[in-house]
Amino acid sequence: MWKNMGLTGKIIVAMALGIILGLTINVLNLNVEGGFINTYVIEGLFAIIGKLFINSLKMLVVPLVLISLICGVCGIGDIRLLGRIGTKTFFIYMITTALAITTAIGMGVLLGIGKGMNIPSEATFEAKEAPPLMEVFANIIPANPISAMANGDMLSIIFFAVLIGISILMVGQPAKGLVKSLELINEVILKMVTIIMNLAPYGVFVLLTNAMADLGLNLIVSLLGYVAVLVGSLAFHFFVTMMIVLKLFSGLSIKTFLAKMREVQIFAFSTSSSNATIPITLRTVTKRMGVNNSVASFTVPFGATINMDGTAIMQGTATIFIANIYGIDLGITEYLTVILMSVLASIGTAGVPGVGLIMLSMVFAQVGLPVEGIALILGVDRILDMLRTAVNVGGDAAVTTIVAKSEGKMDLAIYNDPNAGAKDVFDGHIDENSEREFSEVFSDGKMGSEYDDVNR
Ligand code: ASP
Repeated sequence: MWKNMGLTGKIIVAMALGIILGLTINVLNLNVEGGFINTYVIEGLFAIIGKLFINSLKMLVVPLVLISLICGVCGIGDIRLLGRIGTKTFFIYMITTALAITTAIGMGVLLGIGKGMNIPSEATFEAKEAPPLMEVFANIIPANPISAMANGDMLSIIFFAVLIGISILMVGQPAKGLVKSLELINEVILKMVTIIMNLAPYGVFVLLTNAMADLGLNLIVSLLGYVAVLVGSLAFHFFVTMMIVLKLFSGLSIKTFLAKMREVQIFAFSTSSSNATIPITLRTVTKRMGVNNSVASFTVPFGATINMDGTAIMQGTATIFIANIYGIDLGITEYLTVILMSVLASIGTAGVPGVGLIMLSMVFAQVGLPVEGIALILGVDRILDMLRTAVNVGGDAAVTTIVAKSEGKMDLAIYNDPNAGAKDVFDGHIDENSEREFSEVFSDGKMGSEYDDVNR
């Protein structure tokens, strides 16, 4: 049965099994420090498999963003159009993030979360420094592109790739061969994404088992008000606000969008990282939804970095929750500051696990809330990080399709075909024709002899 199941089905089953196993370990208290399950399974085998899986995704992010974006810019072929797509995307990302946090603040205020609560907490919170916004802007142009790539500085990589693309366009005809080669490299990297997606059921299973085994169930119960309002706001923003925006501005089918996003969101949920999910998001919007690479190669990595609707929602909810617990009254100025700060903070921080808390400390410092208050929600943040990351990538993909549709850069036949891109899954067998073609090339005396020379 497992063999005949489609990849999405396998990933969903793996997710469910991981959740069940993790919760069982948690509830039966089997995950005790120093115990067999903790040492050999959770912190041992599963931790290693989970790390291998996340690394295999991260491994592809920088090469894929760089190459696909160079190809994308060359594909657009018009620098003014590139500017228009960039500006449009930026504003939609900012507006949807502002909508997200406004929803969260509205819900929080309406329901008065945290009012009259008194939570004793031994946890402490040390705020890590977030990069100042000015520095973020200054570093968009990398002094050293290789170190930008080594550090995965997405905005710098985007800048560098766009500049290479523009320069290729300026060189014109003689650079055609180069573009062709880059397009082929892009296809090769997307094939690597396909191979890694095949490992997803196993990766998702171990990541979810570990996350759930670690889950502080008692904590969730004591913070139920906060968790429920946050989850409600996340669901409302993604399923209601964003889907209305999608329908209104693109006319595309919501059902199709949600179905095709399922895999991407499970990846985001289990890795808690929009950045690590970039290869899957990019593959899904291009191969499964029909968005042209010229738009997606820019909007997806850009969105993973600057667009964080789910994270903004957490910041809105947490601000109100903690202000209420400490009995601090926030006025309209503070609310507006929170909205502005969250939007700005999302620009400067990468989509990696736990970064939302760093952004939250910036927001708190700005509106005068005690940063130590963050310790109160620390224990439940891991699971909420998973959920908000799924909403973050959902927003990236929704805006990508809106922009692509409005620019006529979308293949509707692919979007409407439920099976588009779904079958392109590596089953352990390389296509016989391509194998034969390659062996002919290698044995015709040209490439083969070079290869032999190297190996001699
Ligand atoms: N983990 C989130 C992301 O990668 C960011 C956060 O909210 O911590 O999108």
